[in-house]
Amino acid sequence: MQLADLTVYHDGRFSRYDDAKVGLLTHGLQYGTGCFEGVRGFWSAREEELYLLEVGAHYARLAESARILMMALPHTTAELCELSVELCVRNGFRTDVYLRPFAYKANEDIGVRLHGVRDAFGLVAIPFERYFESDRGLRAGVSSWRRIDDTMAPARGKITGIYVNSALAKSEAVLNGFDEAIMLTADGHVSEGSAENIFMVRRGVLYTPDPSQNILEGVTRRAIMTLAREELGLTVVERAIDRSELMVADELFITGSAAGIQWISSLDHRPIGDGERGPISSRLVDLYDGAVRGTLPRYRHWLTAVYAARRVATG
Ligand code: PMP
Repeated sequence: MQLADLTVYHDGRFSRYDDAKVGLLTHGLQYGTGCFEGVRGFWSAREEELYLLEVGAHYARLAESARILMMALPHTTAELCELSVELCVRNGFRTDVYLRPFAYKANEDIGVRLHGVRDAFGLVAIPFERYFESDRGLRAGVSSWRRIDDTMAPARGKITGIYVNSALAKSEAVLNGFDEAIMLTADGHVSEGSAENIFMVRRGVLYTPDPSQNILEGVTRRAIMTLAREELGLTVVERAIDRSELMVADELFITGSAAGIQWISSLDHRPIGDGERGPISSRLVDLYDGAVRGTLPRYRHWLTAVYAARRVATG
């Protein structure tokens, strides 16, 4: 499928991707004053169904980001969920997909600010396979770039301009031979990856940085904490984590809508555990896969069935 021919939603109507344009001076482009989401959809060949994962939670977070940016979304969370279903149906997807809703400051003039600027909204959905190339463990490196602090820009918002921080860290890591960057907070505690939250297993307990560590409060992070507690009976602790704790962890993995769960085989050239995928990471990968593809009934409420919803709606 060509990008140009995809159906997208922009400024209140459906159009072709190539016909949905923004001007060069648009504030969101020039000043990074926009916010967005990344929503995954998973195709079940067995059920001939496309499942959107936690779409309501993503739109609730978009509403929070918009509030921080003094922005008004044009639709309620429920309407945005419905719009997402509609867009997938219009594109007729029969693959895994990625949805990118975004709201941005749309004035085309000079003068950085949040107030008194027109807001606009767009939604793009594309076929999507994998974010990381393979199932091998990632080689991660601690970044020389610190995660942005909430006193500088709101780390808990998924805000366009803040991704300069992620891009700097990711490129540094990859150009230095790693697969992913782990960023520390300004005071030196572990924060997160360039676009993922991080988890550590140590002596059978699962740890992840708490929300005061300038993390994006991930939808996948919450799902993994739920699966770990409810399915594996694990104790899950949210607290500040030191860099060297990561080095002596039994298992490390990162989570995100695009990345899924991806285990880390080494950090700063030190193997994690025995360098193989650990038992807790493995079980969580399987559980997450079952939950997102609709084979774990207990977590069916995380999923929105695109085509069933439409079949019911049209009778
Ligand atoms: N941190 C950052 C900086 C991210 O961009 C993402 C991806 N949205 C995450 C964490 C993981 O969040 P989620 O599980 O909601 O995708």
